[in-house]
Amino acid sequence: MRIIVIGAGVIGVASAWYLTRDGHEVTVLEAREGAGLETSFGNAGGVCPGFAGPWAAPGMPLKGLKWMFQPTAPLKIRPRFDPAQWSWLLRFVANCTAGRFAANKTRMQRIAHFSKACLVQLREETGIQYDHGTGGVLQIFATREEAEGGRRAADVLARLDVAHRVLSPDEVCTIEPALAHTRAPISGGLQLPSDEVGDCHLFTQSLARLAAERGCRFVFNAPVLSIGASGERIDTVKTAQESFQADAVVVATGPWAVKLLKPLGINLPIYPVKGYSLTCDIEDPDAAPRSSVMDEHSKVMICRLGSRLRAAGVAELAGFDPAMPEHALQGLRDRVAELFPGAADYGEAVYWHGFRPMTPGGPAHVGRTRYANLFLNVGHGSNGWTQACGAARVLTEKIAGRPDPLARHAA
Ligand SMILES: Cc1cc2nc3c(=O)[nH]c(=O)nc-3n(C[C@H](O)[C@H](O)[C@H](O)COP(=O)(O)OP(=O)(O)OC[C@H]3O[C@@H](n4cnc5c(N)ncnc54)[C@H](O)[C@@H]3O)c2cc1C
Repeated sequence: MRIIVIGAGVIGVASAWYLTRDGHEVTVLEAREGAGLETSFGNAGGVCPGFAGPWAAPGMPLKGLKWMFQPTAPLKIRPRFDPAQWSWLLRFVANCTAGRFAANKTRMQRIAHFSKACLVQLREETGIQYDHGTGGVLQIFATREEAEGGRRAADVLARLDVAHRVLSPDEVCTIEPALAHTRAPISGGLQLPSDEVGDCHLFTQSLARLAAERGCRFVFNAPVLSIGASGERIDTVKTAQESFQADAVVVATGPWAVKLLKPLGINLPIYPVKGYSLTCDIEDPDAAPRSSVMDEHSKVMICRLGSRLRAAGVAELAGFDPAMPEHALQGLRDRVAELFPGAADYGEAVYWHGFRPMTPGGPAHVGRTRYANLFLNVGHGSNGWTQACGAARVLTEKIAGRPDPLARHAA
């Protein structure tokens, strides 16, 4: 089949890779000048199936309200005169019941664990390098309440049969010796030894090159302006320069899918949730994390990507606002400097922002639409790097009409 993939973030490129490998003639249309330059560029780097789960959880609406009045809260809702924001928030609240949370978490865990297995296989097959580390992810707690929450999370992990260890403060410092010098209190930890870390941007660029070597065509600087339908089928995909025809079209444009699909009558409940990261060169390797630390207190993730340190966090619901307010960046910088003093010259950090493509419930849209030849791979929220290979494999099997691989893969 001739297949057009729209969007060359980690999701679009992974889709293009598996579709090309499956024997299709694939063309990727990307608005930017290269692959992985939007949300997949500066994320926290965590390939963390153990943490995969929805933000919509029991108790979250109340927490969200409280956080609205705290300047350094990890999640900030900035109310706007925007029906999309309000309708998304209502759907989010509707997903905060115990039943919806359990169902959404189970779906996300299944695809995330499958995805990790696909990533390992891809690495073995291709030798792809992306400053990855396989030393697990360590969640740290500052207060007794947080450590108690960690123990409850461990019970859920045990039920899902996910490898984990609940740790005392001393054990935390054995796993991450640099934390022995932290200025922040540590009341315990939770280790997920099978989780990984890696540079999503490097991965996306390298995988795009590997796909191109196998015949996949990439057209950059080509924003898709419209997708045209005739009856139940898509017949054209238009950029400013060219019109493309294909047997199937995959939309993988992250949070920008909403605008692209609206004229086709497809209203996706995906909202851009902004986050920030900082990256700096490691100056003292012994003072930096060995692998990856998720700080529950600030919801900031700090990891080592080769010779660099990356810290990412914060969630703001304020549309596609590109502002980088100093107080948000300073909050991030201060917390990393407190946890890992002397690891890097934080004054030299490079800052970035990105828009998580969030669905209200958590699970992404992967698969068919009402148009016979239009497929989606969008809405992977805060877990898109973790889910990329798995979601792309699921999509590839669906396009080929083969059984869903998740049915065979236990979480
Ligand atoms: C602060 C932060 C930390 C994160 N940390 C993690 C983490 O640790 N682990 C994890 O798993 N996930 C993490 N994520 C989430 C992850 O980064 C995203 O889920 C993932 O990058 C989404 O990939 P994507 O390909 O869907 O979107 P994108 O990477 O945004 O790609 C979409 C592409 O579509 C292109 N596009 C848009 N419109 C058009 C058009 N009309 N025509 C052509 N092209 C178009 C864009 O230019 C872009 O390249 C984090 C996100 C943020 C913001």
